[in-house]
Amino acid sequence: MMGFNKDQKIIGIRVLKDNVIWVWKNDNSAVVVDPALSQPVIEYLKANNLDLEAILQTHHHSDHIGGTRELIKEWPNVKVIASVKEKNRIPFQNLSVSDGDKLRLLNKEVQVIEVIGHTISHIAFHLNSEVPVLFIGDTLFSAGCGRVFEGTYNQMYNSLKKIKSLPKNTLIYCAHEYTKSNLLWALDIEPENKNLKKKLIEVEKKISLEELTIPSLLKEEMKINLFLRADNLKRFSFLRANKDSWV
Ligand code: ZN
Ligand code: FE
Repeated sequence: MMGFNKDQKIIGIRVLKDNVIWVWKNDNSAVVVDPALSQPVIEYLKANNLDLEAILQTHHHSDHIGGTRELIKEWPNVKVIASVKEKNRIPFQNLSVSDGDKLRLLNKEVQVIEVIGHTISHIAFHLNSEVPVLFIGDTLFSAGCGRVFEGTYNQMYNSLKKIKSLPKNTLIYCAHEYTKSNLLWALDIEPENKNLKKKLIEVEKKISLEELTIPSLLKEEMKINLFLRADNLKRFSFLRANKDSWV
């Protein structure tokens, strides 16, 4: 198994209010995750002489697939990888995948993991390398998790269990920069939690420097993410409902 070297990395492009489009690249090629918009991606890829090998779609929401049609026009051979269950809602997919499927992208092995809850077919992409990477879309955020729009609380709880079973050195790349407000909510629930307080200071510093607060390490997320720390469905359901009504 090869690790990342300096020529192979992942950068985040901030778009819309709080979306982050991840571009995973090597010398010549790139894979883009959940392109909400096309223009910033096209500009970045052209400026860096990168060919677009694949687009990964975690779920069908417009702030994740909105840029895909225009990217296909620029790179007609691009693989558009999405859940086989979303042929209607992600109609331009040309490589349909299911839970457990393995792909080879940028010479790395990528495994599809179904994480139902936010939608009934949400998938994540786990990149197996020295530092494992998880593109998780809207299922998990730093210090938070996605709203349960289509699935059940039980499904979302089980999806979080799947994430918890991954190697603890996995870097988690989510699709929204929500970390600060998630931490403020978590501190309402657990005001004395020292890990949360420490994380809030780190996050505020990054924000003041206009840096992204993500990705985050699974090992660290296990300390600060109340949803990952919920050890039964009742606790998870309480937290999710509380967060939904938190302002
Ligand atoms: Zn979404
Ligand atoms: Fe989203």
